[in-house]
Amino acid sequence: MSEPLTIALSKGRIFKETLPLLAHAGIEAIDDPETSRKLILDTNHDDVKLVIIRASDVPTYVQYGAADLGVAGKDVLMEHGGAGLYEPLDLGIARCRLMVAGRGPWSEQAQRLRIATKYVNSAREYFAQQGIQVEIIKLYGSMELAPLVGLSDLIVDVVDTGNTLKANGLMPLESIADISSRLVVNKASMKRKHRRVQAFIDQIAEAVRRQENAA
Ligand code: AMP
Repeated sequence: MSEPLTIALSKGRIFKETLPLLAHAGIEAIDDPETSRKLILDTNHDDVKLVIIRASDVPTYVQYGAADLGVAGKDVLMEHGGAGLYEPLDLGIARCRLMVAGRGPWSEQAQRLRIATKYVNSAREYFAQQGIQVEIIKLYGSMELAPLVGLSDLIVDVVDTGNTLKANGLMPLESIADISSRLVVNKASMKRKHRRVQAFIDQIAEAVRRQENAA
């Protein structure tokens, strides 16, 4: 039997959009994470397991070798910092943008601008690069609410269609980064299981190329 592989994924869009790429590598999940309560999913290969975790935990599981590989959004990876990980492949899925948004164009003001976000590190770095002093308020979700109730002047969040911003009377103001999901690999797994991991990366890369050519 070949060396076992554990792949960390999050539920929802990343799982759905990663499935066809895994299928190209001959890997099919036996359980559906949307209906199953299992956190470790079997696949059609005895030696390949999928662990289903929160998106923001994927880099940590892979960093510590609890999973050999994972799929994580660039937004999550930027926030994590990327220690202990290789990022060999842009999967081109779950595309969106990390943006500054607010009720309208902003200008520098006497008091420090308050920024509500779960992307604390990315937001701090972005405004520091602009030479703008800000106060960052850490939230875990529903960032769009913060400017509406006076908790912050601006938010930093991922935006896809912009519909959520619009529905809450907010507008996209500045783009911080283009986001898509990346394949990440534990550095030790890359060495210890090199042939297996590299073969997997090559198959997924081929699947990404095919998908992009078909689009
Ligand atoms: P939108 O299509 O701009 O209305 O997106 C709605 C919400 O979905 C945003 O507030 C985000 O929190 C979330 N979202 C959209 N695209 C992504 C993505 N690729 N990754 C993670 N969250 C996303």
